[in-house]
Amino acid sequence: MASVLVVEDDQFVRSALIRHLSDASHTVRSVGTALEALREVAHFRFDVVILDLGLPDLDGSEALKMLRGITDVPVIIATARDDETEIVRLLNDGADDYLTKPFSVEHLSARMAAVLRRSRGSGSGTGEAAPRQVLQVGGLTVDPLRRQAELDGARLDLTRREFDLLAFLAGRPGVVVPRKELLAEVWQQSYGDDQTIDVHLSWLRRKLGETAANPRYLHTLRGVGVKLEPPL
Ligand code: CA
Repeated sequence: MASVLVVEDDQFVRSALIRHLSDASHTVRSVGTALEALREVAHFRFDVVILDLGLPDLDGSEALKMLRGITDVPVIIATARDDETEIVRLLNDGADDYLTKPFSVEHLSARMAAVLRRSRGSGSGTGEAAPRQVLQVGGLTVDPLRRQAELDGARLDLTRREFDLLAFLAGRPGVVVPRKELLAEVWQQSYGDDQTIDVHLSWLRRKLGETAANPRYLHTLRGVGVKLEPPL
């Protein structure tokens, strides 16, 4: 249970978010402009802010900077912009995580849970940055916040999608993730052909220095899904 501020000017998206968050027993307040958001965080304590980037009054990155000027509340950016440079900049400017629209409720819940875990885990709340959650699977290290991955100490040069795929799987080591879930969570599509996943898997596999015939980390279970686990 968390106290959430939704900053979103699209009435439809906003109502849907409020409904889903309330259903999940969160306390929700919502506003449609950046200035209202600033007023809210100045008056109330929130556990997390979900900030739409396309607001009518201020550019999202301006809004984020102003929020950061008065509070260290965790901020999840919700953006229709699928622009890696922009997202990296926002993360550097103090956003805790981001979601690319359209996103599923499950995806939002997972990101919120992770952000809350980090902020609550950091304890004292003295304004220090929350510790980064770095994922470690065998010799593989994945840092979702810095969007960097290493294998046995060597930096992997991954595309955005390859990184998302690897990070998603590394967050669930040893778990078989169904293809449908990968499509929904990594590609944010409710449908698609298996080839999309296969192609990215094979690229990722090559970068990990393995093949489908001789897997080390990435295991495909035909007709079921994919799992990532440390080599035996
Ligand atoms: Ca908007």
